[in-house]
Amino acid sequence: MLMNSNSQDWGSERGREATIAAPVSDLACLAVTFPSSRRVGDRRSARGCAFTLIELLVVIAIIAILVALLLPALGRAKQKAQIVKCISNLHQIGIGLKMYVDENGDTFPPATASQLAQGISDWSSFRHGDVLGGIEGSLRFSWIPPVTNRLLSSYVPAGEAFHCPPDRGLLDSGQAPTVFESVGCSYSFNHLLHANFYANADDSVNNLALKRENWVPDPALFISIHEWGAYPMGDRYSDVCSVAGWHEASHPGKGFGRADIKDAGKFVAPVLFVDGHSQRCDFTPSLRKDLLHGLEPTKDWIWYKPQK
Ligand SMILES: [Zn+2]
Repeated sequence: MLMNSNSQDWGSERGREATIAAPVSDLACLAVTFPSSRRVGDRRSARGCAFTLIELLVVIAIIAILVALLLPALGRAKQKAQIVKCISNLHQIGIGLKMYVDENGDTFPPATASQLAQGISDWSSFRHGDVLGGIEGSLRFSWIPPVTNRLLSSYVPAGEAFHCPPDRGLLDSGQAPTVFESVGCSYSFNHLLHANFYANADDSVNNLALKRENWVPDPALFISIHEWGAYPMGDRYSDVCSVAGWHEASHPGKGFGRADIKDAGKFVAPVLFVDGHSQRCDFTPSLRKDLLHGLEPTKDWIWYKPQK
């Protein structure tokens, strides 16, 4: 009698226990319960399938661990894909640049329309070196040539070829527009040096712009096209210099100056060389060593030709 009485009490408790049940399909059901293990067994056998809260949490934890393991690998895969796309862009631009040089007396494009007009100074003239191709951007400054006036547009008509995938703008927060969106071109010709930093350069102002092919000291090492990210931008009249990385950057597009360059992330960028090949370069050590002279020669690349 005692046992029967207990059995009945236990049965009545089962009826009062807190149970949340939610059907997930016609074939299965999901119930979150808080009973003892014996009661779970009873319920499972009675209803076909059910998970306890603990089991559910364990599954969620396992999924979270798998996602946490996968995310860095996915991030690295995305970065590699962006490098590959960027190198492909530079390869196309390199073919177009070579065609341009061949059709213009073995001479590279000018930095500006003024330089092409043999020294006539006009700061509103087209800055060809900044925008050799691409699309019409949102900015409408007089120095930005329309697509039809860009020197490589007819050789590389696909505007997207001038779009670096991780382009996040320059020196501003992540919300800044990309360089591609603003001026229509993520890449620049290697036409810019800062005279007070590179006074020993053969041309410390226009660099490769409007030079003959035979001026280049080592075509396999001399950079001809680079993206704006990872290129140090200095004020010609002061010692202020800053840089913003895109590829593999911890804060793409965010600017770093002399004071915080040591704490910044990586400065990685694919570049095009005069001989037509392109490859990924890690400029981090050069820039951290001396941001004001971040373009000094290394064994893997040179930005400018030294004076003889
Ligand atoms: Zn790129």
